[in-house]
Amino acid sequence: MKPADDRRTELACSGGSLNPPINRITRALLLLIVLVAAGGVEADPAADLALEGGAVYTLDPGRPWAQAVAISQGRIVYVGDTKGLAAHVGPETRRIDLHGRMLLPGFHDSHIHLLAGGTRNDRCQLRGLAWPDAVLAALRSCAARLAEGQWLYGTDLDESVFAGRGPTRQSLDAIAGERPALVRDESGRLFWVNSAVLGTAGIDADTPEPPNGVIERDAITGEPTGVLRDAAVEPVWRLIPEPGPEQYRAALQRASAAANAVGITSIIDARVTPTMLDAYRRADAAGELSVRVLASQPIAPKDGRGRIDELISAASSLHGNRLSAGSAKIFVDGEFGQHTAALEASYQDRPGDRGTLRIEPAWLSETIRRLDAAGLQVHLHVMGDRAIRLALDAIEGAIQANGPRRRRHQLAHVALPGQENLARMAALGVVADFQMLWAQPDQEMRGAIGPLGEDRARELLPIRSAFESGVTVVGGSDWPSESIDPLAAIQVALTRRPLAGGGTAWIPEQRASLAEMLAAYTLNGARLAGREQLTGSIETGKAADLVVLERNLFEVDPMNLQQVRVLLTLLDGVPVYRDPAIAWP
Ligand SMILES: [Zn+2]
Repeated sequence: MKPADDRRTELACSGGSLNPPINRITRALLLLIVLVAAGGVEADPAADLALEGGAVYTLDPGRPWAQAVAISQGRIVYVGDTKGLAAHVGPETRRIDLHGRMLLPGFHDSHIHLLAGGTRNDRCQLRGLAWPDAVLAALRSCAARLAEGQWLYGTDLDESVFAGRGPTRQSLDAIAGERPALVRDESGRLFWVNSAVLGTAGIDADTPEPPNGVIERDAITGEPTGVLRDAAVEPVWRLIPEPGPEQYRAALQRASAAANAVGITSIIDARVTPTMLDAYRRADAAGELSVRVLASQPIAPKDGRGRIDELISAASSLHGNRLSAGSAKIFVDGEFGQHTAALEASYQDRPGDRGTLRIEPAWLSETIRRLDAAGLQVHLHVMGDRAIRLALDAIEGAIQANGPRRRRHQLAHVALPGQENLARMAALGVVADFQMLWAQPDQEMRGAIGPLGEDRARELLPIRSAFESGVTVVGGSDWPSESIDPLAAIQVALTRRPLAGGGTAWIPEQRASLAEMLAAYTLNGARLAGREQLTGSIETGKAADLVVLERNLFEVDPMNLQQVRVLLTLLDGVPVYRDPAIAWP
């Protein structure tokens, strides 16, 4: 090899030094380098970190399983057997013996509200409180800690605690006084507010009842009682002040830590406002982001045409390290429980009602065409089959108008697609982002069965059919409204049984396999986020975004998957979560 010959020439010319002993050492070292280079032994510097003796599930079809991985400067430099690892290990290499534990690519959550979810700690948590006195006491102690002008914001109150009535407007006035006070249930569609909030929102005895909403009123005076349901909460939602930069910074750290603890290394934040994008940008610039983030920025018809240009310029001007923003979020319809998911055929319990579109199809087509032309991806909230068909029509129109190119459009929730739409998704290359946790026979599922009817409800979440139709499937938690844990979601997708155990499988023929689900939560997620060259599988050259699990998932009863502990999460080879069971050398 030529470089080695050159070095040998230099060596020959460097004789006759004034300092023979050192010269001999230099010669010996140089000779060693020459021999190493000429002998074909790896001359790379030793790896920073070596993980060995594991069940390494790579997601690389060329080598699905391995035993060892070496990492240098955040990148994977070796994947293979233990023997081959030796060439990458030096005295400075940190070595971790996995003792047969499972090592796999870090998980991708393709639909999560990471930053918004992190701000929940700034609220007054009422979950689990079972007595009115306990709720009022909690609100009182939260109110005492608030800064000037801050809202008292109680969250996750169970409606049954106050026998359906909730804390009255008067009781909230007594606690909060002039300060705006709001208590909400977990769904965010039932509010109990005080007089200050009603006043600012302009809700009084003369306010007409909104369509699809209820303003509860005193039977005698007609004055609002402070209880607002469904669409009636909208004017109050808009008043709730957005957290400031410091609150967002703390929220992001909390939420990212929660994500890292369950093995998540990449996310798509499904609704990122301009203020939130700033918070992400600051965290990324400061090196504080412990997950890779694709920010999905919302756009709605009320925003006007200028908003599309804003989205495009925000996405193209962002040159983040772990942050990108090339995704636009659009709500196409609502949900089954409220009869707002858009269906092809009427709701069973409301003949003639096919649900509600939140956009005009013409607006959707035009908006997607423009976003697609600028290289952005769209992330569409779609539940019912009519919403899904219209979304696919709009995407198909954009493809025809803008011509072929690499695209990654995402249908989120995609609860009732129907076989025909699945075939179209496969043909158009549109990604299906399921919320696997919904596929269990629980309270929430029963809430959808009533409006849809038993027969149509059997078509919900056809995850197996999606894989078989050739659709690229990913998983999204929708945290904080559902569990953040990918293993819990994977368990439900494999079993379609209640997470809590017991019960029978719901539509068992739609169960997915473990290999399919691991692909959904790793490589498919990376593809959707446009990062498959960087992450999503364990291959040399890729970033060391990895997770170590206590056990090999392929050897665990599917009903026990959620019990498998995450022991170590690495991002760019650096631990972002570590269980004490893994000693860091
Ligand atoms: Zn969501």
